[in-house]
Amino acid sequence: MTLISTNTPTAELQALDAAHHMHPFTTGADLARKGARVITRAEGCWLTDSEGERILDGMAGLWCVNVGYGRKELAAAAARQMEELPYYNTFFQTTHVPAIQLSARLAELAPGDLNNVFYASSGSEANDTNIRLVRTYWEEKGQPERKVIISRWNAYHGSSVGSGSLGGMKGMHAQGGMPIPDIHHIDQPNWWAEGGDMTPEEFGLERARQLEQAIEEIGPEKVAAFIAEPVQGAGGVIIPPETYWPEIQRIVDKYGILLIADEVITGFGRTGNWFGSQTLNIKPHIMTIAKGLSSGYAPIGGSVVCDEVAAVIGSDEFNHGYTYSGHPVAAAIALENLRIMEEEGVVEHVRDVAHPHLAERWHALGDHPLVGETKLIGMMGSLALTPEKGSRARFAADAGTAGYITRERCFANNVIMRHVYDRMIISPPLVMTTDEIDILIDRATLALDEAYAQLKSDGLLKKAS
Ligand code: PMP
Repeated sequence: MTLISTNTPTAELQALDAAHHMHPFTTGADLARKGARVITRAEGCWLTDSEGERILDGMAGLWCVNVGYGRKELAAAAARQMEELPYYNTFFQTTHVPAIQLSARLAELAPGDLNNVFYASSGSEANDTNIRLVRTYWEEKGQPERKVIISRWNAYHGSSVGSGSLGGMKGMHAQGGMPIPDIHHIDQPNWWAEGGDMTPEEFGLERARQLEQAIEEIGPEKVAAFIAEPVQGAGGVIIPPETYWPEIQRIVDKYGILLIADEVITGFGRTGNWFGSQTLNIKPHIMTIAKGLSSGYAPIGGSVVCDEVAAVIGSDEFNHGYTYSGHPVAAAIALENLRIMEEEGVVEHVRDVAHPHLAERWHALGDHPLVGETKLIGMMGSLALTPEKGSRARFAADAGTAGYITRERCFANNVIMRHVYDRMIISPPLVMTTDEIDILIDRATLALDEAYAQLKSDGLLKKAS
């Protein structure tokens, strides 16, 4: 075996990576030609790569490193727990202190009577649990025909067969036999791309009412639940019009179906409250959590379930669970992460300091000739790139061409922003300082300038006819 370290030359690391490592959501052959960027260290909001470049992380990893990198307290909590009890399961009428403590803490933090936690190791697993939870709930209630879960196109709920089916990513459905039966998708509340001549308010209502139409078409007696991210993340940070969620809530209440809020991104401070459901005034029966629960320091996720659903599920054996449900080391890290968040006032920092400053600078990017729309909630934002300011025209080039070029210019300027087709998105660590936000925006502006110049010289600033 070739022995390597962070001091091994980049080309050698890339070659070995290309030879043996299959990357998620990547064209392997393209990456093998280009070579993956190798990240070697990180501290605060800054990554270091194998070339010694320091890169400002505008995505908190994958929307998860909310308290920033290099937290010694989290490493110490992991080490302590590993020495005391590195593993035990929570099957067969057994429990342990980290799982007990974390569940009690989550019950305190979660809104309403969301007092019960079923653990998983990821958002995908938690959403698979949710499919079984809601269907089992209705079976136990004597309504086994209630199986259909309604979701939305361009939603992201994970990558396993179940959660990927819940999601509405057509590229994912096209591979490997998805979706599974009894999942139904309605359209997303993306006004910029799909709003036509409607005002955002009219469009929000129209899209919400698709839920009611779908329930009526399927038959209200067959619908188990509606699942949605309070704010779509991987779909492009789509912040719905203000009319959307109140109407969804009305419909959910009217038909008595279960509401699952997928808080994998919006949970734990991202929107300026502990949960996105609080920011958007949503009353879910189940919340999916992961990512920010441990700030990405350990793989842990879960379903936070209301008392009534938990009581019904608890009335019979629930034949479901994972070896790592409530893993003690992951739970100890999550607890320490939540302690840091509370003691440092991370949610308040987002609300009172980081968001207001970012909002001022982010929305000013709306003056850039390449930017059509700026959206921001808490510390998650998006920019719609446009070939023609003042309209909501699409680019004539394949969707994602302008976004990809801009993303590459971000990398070249040592700032991480992602693109979803032709939307640029950010989701920085929640602890980002105002000085770092300034650097983020300055570099983003440079990247936009360079992308604009390149699109112009390549003749790509044309709108679709
Ligand atoms: N739900 C949402 C809203 C997500 O954004 C993600 C991941 N980006 C998931 C679920 C899946 O989580 P994981 O990748 O941990 O399985």
